[in-house]
Amino acid sequence: EMFGQLTSGLETAWNKLKGEEGLTKENIVEPMRDIRRALLEADVSLPVVRRFVQSVSEQAVGTGLIRGVKPDQQLVKIVSDELVKLMGGEVSELVFAKSAPTVILLAGLQGVGKTTVSAKLALYLKKQGKSCMLIAGDVYRPAAIDQLVILGKQVDVPVYAAGTDVKPAEIARQGLQEAKRKNVDVVIMDTAGRLQIDKVMMDELKDVKRVLNPTEVLLVVDAMTGQEAAALVTTFNLEIGITGAIMTKLDGDSRGGAALSVKEVSGKPIKLVGRGERMEDLEPFYPDRMAGRILGMGDVLSFVEKAQEVMKQEDAEDLQKKIMSAKFDFNDLLKQTRAVAQMGSMSRVIGMIPGMGKVTPAQIREAEKSVKIMESMIEVMTPEEREKPELLAESPARRKRIAQESGKTEQQVSQLVAQLFQMRVRMKNLMGVMEGGSLPSLSN
Ligand code: GDP
Repeated sequence: EMFGQLTSGLETAWNKLKGEEGLTKENIVEPMRDIRRALLEADVSLPVVRRFVQSVSEQAVGTGLIRGVKPDQQLVKIVSDELVKLMGGEVSELVFAKSAPTVILLAGLQGVGKTTVSAKLALYLKKQGKSCMLIAGDVYRPAAIDQLVILGKQVDVPVYAAGTDVKPAEIARQGLQEAKRKNVDVVIMDTAGRLQIDKVMMDELKDVKRVLNPTEVLLVVDAMTGQEAAALVTTFNLEIGITGAIMTKLDGDSRGGAALSVKEVSGKPIKLVGRGERMEDLEPFYPDRMAGRILGMGDVLSFVEKAQEVMKQEDAEDLQKKIMSAKFDFNDLLKQTRAVAQMGSMSRVIGMIPGMGKVTPAQIREAEKSVKIMESMIEVMTPEEREKPELLAESPARRKRIAQESGKTEQQVSQLVAQLFQMRVRMKNLMGVMEGGSLPSLSN
């Protein structure tokens, strides 16, 4: 079972949190070590694992527990989201040229399944109603040309072949001409693979690419090669410029590292995956489904998502009430900014604050940074101070203490206090509440 080892490795992590009341710096140490080990054993590259674990740790400790959700369940959700992100988030669709034919150039080392993929891809596109043509460009292996001709017959797609004596770039030129004459929608060119990357192969590919001006240049990689696959995608991208990868043999007992690493390491997405030897076994790469398969905890995930929704709803209503009564305090400020930074409901929450309409990603990053600063100051306030911001407005000594304990400057503390009162005023103005909306000046 593919990912089996990874799945059970991660399970060890959740199990260590059973019976815990929350997620803390201390109690996630062991589970994080398990996650790290599981990913490394799955052959995910070390820098990727490091970044992954750090991001998960930060979210685990930084996010308050969602009501009704157990710590282990929440960690499953955080890891799942992070896995999806790691694999590129959204499914990455094939791109088609505005005017036909769309040209897809396939590259890859020998034995990865390139010839098979050429025919699979033709069938896949044919099922979407596109007419296809294959070009046999593997001039170093006569058997490869024969193989493509046979597979072409099998999926009922014409194959352009010119034997092994013609240069690949010339075959490409002729093939493309033929495709235009035949008015096909998509041309797929199979190229020669070698056992290793070498200059001749890269130069040939560059020549072919120049002739074809392809819409997609896809590197075919073998899932069984683990993190090596991610390195190959990087190299090919630097050498010839590619648009994505097709990963084959995901049905084998690969450990999963390749599928997890390609996007993060190379910046290029996996667009399609091969999951068997039959011509039908090619499908889009869905990061979310892949994460689901790795974790095998579909019901936990949907449960946590529902709980998250409910909490967002309640928080929003709560905040609305606070705004109406103008009792917005530091607890609310903290809750709100955390929500902004962590729940991904940026526009929704920020949209409630007057004067903040559309939010750009840069603003969100900025907000996330200021949340950290704000958090450290609010965290050292007494419960009373949090509920009665007036205490801080009136007492320089209190502000000084908070500055010292949080490691921030007194000016930053003053700014935070001022910010809260400004917010109250803006909220009152928004709600049309006229009385008592003046901004108290800080006494010195
Ligand atoms: P090429 O040298 O890159 O053209 O590789 P081939 O297309 O000749 O494929 C090499 C071998 O891998 C063949 O036996 C294929 O049947 C097999 N193969 C290709 N893709 C897959 C896949 O997704 N799953 C499995 N199990 N085998 C595959």
